[in-house]
Amino acid sequence: MSKPSGPLLVYGPLSATYDFGPAHPLTPRRFGPGIDLLRAVGAEPGMAPEPAPDEELRWVHVAGYVETVRRLSADPFGPAGAGIGPGDDPAFPGMHEAAAAVAGGSLQAMEAILRGEAEHAFHAGGGLHHAMPDRASGFCIYNDPALAIARARRAGLRVLYVDLDVHHGDGVQAIHASDPGVLTISFHESGRYLFPGTGFVDEVGAGTAAGTIANVPFEPFTGEDAWWAAVNSIIPPVAAAFGPDLLVTQHGADSHAWDPLAHLAVTTSAMGRAARLLDEVAHRFAGGRWLATGGGGYDVYRVVPRAWALTWLAGAHREPPARIPSAWRARWGTEAGRYRQSPIPGRFDDEPNAGRPIDLRQRSAEAQSIATARQVREIHVPALLKAAQERGWWEPLTAYPDMGQGHGHAGEGQDHAGANPSPTVLGHLSAEGLERLNLAERVIAPLDESAGMRILVAAAKGGAAVSVAANGGTIVAAAVTARSPSSAPQEHELLALGVAPGMRRQGLGKALLVAHLADLEGPVVATVTLAERDPLAPEAVETRRRIARSLLLGAGFELMAPPPLIATADPGVVTARRARGQK
Ligand SMILES: [Zn+2]
Repeated sequence: MSKPSGPLLVYGPLSATYDFGPAHPLTPRRFGPGIDLLRAVGAEPGMAPEPAPDEELRWVHVAGYVETVRRLSADPFGPAGAGIGPGDDPAFPGMHEAAAAVAGGSLQAMEAILRGEAEHAFHAGGGLHHAMPDRASGFCIYNDPALAIARARRAGLRVLYVDLDVHHGDGVQAIHASDPGVLTISFHESGRYLFPGTGFVDEVGAGTAAGTIANVPFEPFTGEDAWWAAVNSIIPPVAAAFGPDLLVTQHGADSHAWDPLAHLAVTTSAMGRAARLLDEVAHRFAGGRWLATGGGGYDVYRVVPRAWALTWLAGAHREPPARIPSAWRARWGTEAGRYRQSPIPGRFDDEPNAGRPIDLRQRSAEAQSIATARQVREIHVPALLKAAQERGWWEPLTAYPDMGQGHGHAGEGQDHAGANPSPTVLGHLSAEGLERLNLAERVIAPLDESAGMRILVAAAKGGAAVSVAANGGTIVAAAVTARSPSSAPQEHELLALGVAPGMRRQGLGKALLVAHLADLEGPVVATVTLAERDPLAPEAVETRRRIARSLLLGAGFELMAPPPLIATADPGVVTARRARGQK
């Protein structure tokens, strides 16, 4: 009988050797009920983790740290160091081999994805996201998600990393912070209340990588609705703008309402929904390439097995069964009771709000968390995509058929840049006029130019003003403004101003903006956040801002103090206003 296909499940004999001892919360006991429930929904382990060689560990860890882990692994009672010792990360015999096997599991899974043998993989024992280049931290010795990302980067792939663990994914963020080809998003309980004490909205990256770190810190007691609203409002448009080649995700189950180590009130229902969203994101933007890992989760009978099963089922494109098999509940019920984690629920999805009434404390926490998520969306989603989504011009997860003429020649304008150095400026085009053109790559967000073309046409139909510079039939620069629904009537918002890579720094952007504004009545406002960048070859953030200021000042704008909501997260944001039109 053929078993239902699904993500490659990474698990083997070495998985349970990663064991800090019987009193430690990250217990290998979770593999018993966890793998058993995965089997019950049709998942069979298909790849056993083997220790990664030191050479690979050194992709993200310093050599001296690997030596320290090896020393304490051979002699756990030797002098403590590098974060290993009494407390969160106690030494144990064979620690190096066990930790290297967790790293190896994620690396092997990544190899399988890169070879095309697996579309999705799920490494339940992976997700050790706190490990730093030179020290252990938060139950994590070697950083397997960061290593898997490093492997994908060596293959030239750009990676979106999404971390759903209740703790900030600080190690992965730190290790890939300076790489503009890795975008990390972490959703977690605020560092004001919880380990590791980081992951605030103003940690955004620097230099060319500015904008490739996103953090959504939630207030304690935030529940599934606010958590899901944040996940669903941020991941798809950020992914559309970034255009990853591959997804790596961490599915720590410790955001759950019953988790003993943290204070959020998320449910397995919301975790499953998030996993299904990530599966969609992988297919829409990343050719289906998706490595999912487990992570934290300390209610190992009632929560972790269901969270793992829902993650795997999302990648198998299957809905969870109506009920949890009674044989599974019978097998694990007694042990769960012994650890005071019973009764085991009968369904994969939880009751709404995990069966608890929503009290005032939760309501006020959620109001704050929703405001934080809005702030993150403000600075990390390009203005054109926010407007396009909010006004119904575009939906991030929908794949739009190519609209322009002569598909496959979208790069033509760029190729012919030398032959035709002064493209024609076409002011305030109609949707019909736009439909006769196609769009060069990387003129405007999103990265997929078919979707970008769709947005321009829908924007023009929706009353926005769209001006372009075209070489032959190809748009090589575009400017978009629309009346702002949130500000004064007659005020326009500059939603996009972009130029194709081969045409930049020749004054085209300024000429287009000036021509565009000449035909516009009323004041115009512009807010240029970190999100406004070429995701494939971003300039250093200081350069981006200098260019934005110079373009806006050259077109008659005056710089303004940014709104506090944006400035607290993105202090260098450029905000400007042009008082009135020329007419
Ligand atoms: Zn899938």
